[in-house]
Amino acid sequence: MRNRRDVLRLGTGAAAAAVAAGPTTASPTSAGPRAAAWQELRRALSPGAALYRPGGGGYDRLAVPENLRYAHVRPAGIVACATPRDVRVAVRWSVKHGVPFAPRSGGHDYAGHSTTEGLLVSLRRMSEVVPGGRRLRVGGGATNSDVYRAREANLYFPGGRCPGVGVAGLTLGGGLGFNDRKWGLGCDRLTQTEVVLADGSLVRASARENPDLFWACRGGAGGNFGINTGFTFDAIPVADQVATVFDLTFALDRGVKLMERVQEILRRDGTGDFDCRVGFVNHGHGEITLLGQYLGTDDRLRRHLAPILELGPTKRFVEQRHFWKAQDHLMTKPERVALASKSLVPDRRLEAETVTAVTEWIRHWQPGRAGNAGHVTLFAMGGRSGTPAPDETAFPHRGATFVIDIGTTWDPATPGEVVGHLLDQIGTVYHTLRRDLGTSASYVNFPDPDLHRWRTAYYGPNHDRLVEIKRRYDPGNLFRHGQSVDSRTA
Ligand SMILES: Cc1cc2nc3c(=O)[nH]c(=O)nc-3n(C[C@H](O)[C@H](O)[C@H](O)COP(=O)(O)OP(=O)(O)OC[C@H]3O[C@@H](n4cnc5c(N)ncnc54)[C@H](O)[C@@H]3O)c2cc1C
Repeated sequence: MRNRRDVLRLGTGAAAAAVAAGPTTASPTSAGPRAAAWQELRRALSPGAALYRPGGGGYDRLAVPENLRYAHVRPAGIVACATPRDVRVAVRWSVKHGVPFAPRSGGHDYAGHSTTEGLLVSLRRMSEVVPGGRRLRVGGGATNSDVYRAREANLYFPGGRCPGVGVAGLTLGGGLGFNDRKWGLGCDRLTQTEVVLADGSLVRASARENPDLFWACRGGAGGNFGINTGFTFDAIPVADQVATVFDLTFALDRGVKLMERVQEILRRDGTGDFDCRVGFVNHGHGEITLLGQYLGTDDRLRRHLAPILELGPTKRFVEQRHFWKAQDHLMTKPERVALASKSLVPDRRLEAETVTAVTEWIRHWQPGRAGNAGHVTLFAMGGRSGTPAPDETAFPHRGATFVIDIGTTWDPATPGEVVGHLLDQIGTVYHTLRRDLGTSASYVNFPDPDLHRWRTAYYGPNHDRLVEIKRRYDPGNLFRHGQSVDSRTA
């Protein structure tokens, strides 16, 4: 199996060679490695990298994940990698000293899968975005905002809406955005990625090299097969692209009609130019938001939107812009809070009774404390995101009508019993939707630590192939977290 991999040639300095000599796995000790071992790691890193230990400057900023629900998980050390070689050094050092580790790019994992009490391998310094022809080469730690900042080349690939979300986590699990109906999911535009494997080697994965690993990197999710140090995307030239953004708010009693009309527009839109997100939210009061974009002019959009505007939005913003300015409007930086989410991925329309159940749930939301919010957000699917066969990539939900995010956010100071009640409430509407929509399918990038049959829910029939690939590339389950693909699965 190893012979089939294309191990990339990398320069290794003498210090790195000492660490890279592994892997001889020691058992993890509760005391953690000695000071000398940390020194060994520090010395082996490239000049642009750094090692942070608790109490040292810079540690806190990097230690805290985006989801404050997991802010208490404190790494024993954080290695801020600057090169793929630093990543190899970190993996080999962890194996040698028996220290568990977790890779982190944007740090937005819902379920805390990028937190660890061992070594946190941060890729944020590897955030370069380099255009070349129609390709965009993106570092393993780049975020959506890094991609948007590199807009002079006018090259785009479908990414997410939140500036801080990492391209790595987003793409490896699928990658939904406001352009996926037109141009496919983020993972569908991936043409190559470089991965540091459990044995510390760095390999390339593409349709030609390690094609099975490449398949797994398109929907199989982060933290499973290795650490991806770079990604190449088949980008879309957008220099001449106009987009009209719409951002509308409605009262809850418009829910049924609004969903009926939105679903009708989506059904008729054969081009994928129309993309949107419908948010049912209670953040002090209940309301419905319809946010999205049309890849075309204001005039044409208004023809589509007319039946929706008839419903009398309480807030209304519709504006034609250049593509990048439209993405700026769609980007939001959410407040840093604690959050939990459940998701469902149906393959059918939402009927009136289901929408009524959601609006009533929103109306009766009990925050327990001011500011604690509940939401059901529907991300429109279909169009190009539904064209590949379900087994063409590891992302299986190709017949999806929506990805539904059922979530709550709270201030981390909220008492445990109040949080418990918030979680119970999202559990209730989740069960209603699961019953009405006849599915438990779930989006791996909205992971839910309480989900029981997560293997089938996230991956459907693709799970078996992911296990085979795991056995080949990480037979010892070095890369693991609470819901990772496990090479020992029967
Ligand atoms: C505010 C917010 C907005 C979001 N919006 C969207 C959206 O619009 N569309 C969408 O599809 N999803 C969205 N998500 C979900 C998002 O796609 C996932 O949370 C994703 O995993 C985040 O990636 P990350 O790199 O920021 O996360 P991280 O927490 O850094 O990583 C996520 C997982 O990948 C692993 N990992 C990280 N880096 C690497 C690497 N380089 N190689 C291998 N494994 C790695 C981690 O160990 C962890 O298991 C959103 C999440 C949040 C919190």
